[in-house]
Amino acid sequence: MIKLVITTCLLIAGATALHSATAQAGLEPYRLNGGINGRQFWMDPNMINVAYMPLIRAANSDWNNAGTRYSMTETSFQCCTAVNEYYAKNYSPATWRGVTMSYLNDGSGVQTCVGCAPFANWDYSQISLNDERLRFDSSVLRTQSTIGHETGHSIALTHSSVTSALLYPDISVRYDVYGTYFPRQNDDIFFASQVQ
Ligand SMILES: [Zn+2]
Repeated sequence: MIKLVITTCLLIAGATALHSATAQAGLEPYRLNGGINGRQFWMDPNMINVAYMPLIRAANSDWNNAGTRYSMTETSFQCCTAVNEYYAKNYSPATWRGVTMSYLNDGSGVQTCVGCAPFANWDYSQISLNDERLRFDSSVLRTQSTIGHETGHSIALTHSSVTSALLYPDISVRYDVYGTYFPRQNDDIFFASQVQ
């Protein structure tokens, strides 16, 4: 599997142009090929801080337990089986917390920019966590809110305008006001349940 390198300039350019919010978290018109049930996620063993690993596992457990078709278990094999890959690095400067980008198996991306909506179905996603920003978070659950949010994008969820929703874009509202770090019943779960 050929991997694309996400350049820093791309990430900066896309930092303020993430998905626009809808009344509730909606679905992109495209999907993960093969669906979101019975799949596997992988974590970069060389991530900048292993403290991210239990948070990534917890975020996946939250989605697994959310009453959706989402069902992913951890694999140590990046190649060929993992459909969600998690990276935690220092993507200086600290303008964004997390970014999800989706790809075909030949390494070509299905988005024209960071945060743009996919234009085709995808084979796998890379979820990049920016330690340069996240290490200043006030709690691990705040960081988990970012991880769970990005995981929602990886299963084709768009942003929500429901302020307590995990897919609400502003963490200073969804987490700092509502304490949301897991999928909420009112929007995310309903829509995720529609993903085949
Ligand atoms: Zn988002």
